Amino acid sequence: MNGIIFDIKRFAVHDGPGIRTTVFFKGCPLKCQWCHNPESIDRAPICIKKTSRLNGREFTDQEVIGYEISTEELLYELQKELVFMEESSGGVTFSGGEPLMQHEFLLEMLQLCRQTGMHTAVDTTLFSSWEVVSRIAQMTNLFLVDLKLMDDSLHEKYTGVSNKVILENIRKVAGLTIPMRIRIPMIPEVTTTPENIRQSIAFLSALNGWIEAVDLLPFHNTANEKYNRFHMKNQFSDKHSMKKEELSSLKEQFEKAGFPVKIGG
Ligand code: SF4
Repeated sequence: MNGIIFDIKRFAVHDGPGIRTTVFFKGCPLKCQWCHNPESIDRAPICIKKTSRLNGREFTDQEVIGYEISTEELLYELQKELVFMEESSGGVTFSGGEPLMQHEFLLEMLQLCRQTGMHTAVDTTLFSSWEVVSRIAQMTNLFLVDLKLMDDSLHEKYTGVSNKVILENIRKVAGLTIPMRIRIPMIPEVTTTPENIRQSIAFLSALNGWIEAVDLLPFHNTANEKYNRFHMKNQFSDKHSMKKEELSSLKEQFEKAGFPVKIGG
């Protein structure tokens, strides 16, 4: 079976335990205004025109983002780092985009990784049907789940979709007792508001302790160059990057509620 990915990042240390290889799937049903991977949103590969200048002459080139790869080819790529994964208790993380958008391809990869003894994590919004989520839950070792905004109208405003399915799926996954880390992007004045933090803590606390940890992911204003390359408007171009220290009081609030918290992935 073939899938479409746009990157493979080796030696990743923020996408789950140990040293990992992270595979970025193409396609995402959300359109978060702060997205750092805007090239991931279209499911199909995209072609962008690049213009560069050298000695006063202008050159135009094309760059294709995304490519088709078979499960066998991808497994071959992942196995190259098997030694590092084993020695660090690491593994493979499937990210995106939204990996559940290519769930059949993802399922086959999870099965192959399991047969090879590789630990797997799926980094997901859980914006999918329960049928898909439950099938993936049976095959992966860990979920890294995004939680963005608790207020549904704000969620729709900033991501383009309602959060109802997402919250319901988080509740159901918690009931399966599969390890789950919650990842909250810390977007200044959007997700960091006292109300959103209070509601997030209340929601997670009601899951009866099935959250392994909470990762607070500081916003970084580093995507401008990408947005320019892709001729897209970065709606968060004027927001400042958050420093770790700015998140210490938010970290304390989650810790007081009983969650182990890490700043960064
Ligand atoms: S869910 Fe992730 S990949 Fe999808 S639009 Fe939002 S930030 Fe981008």
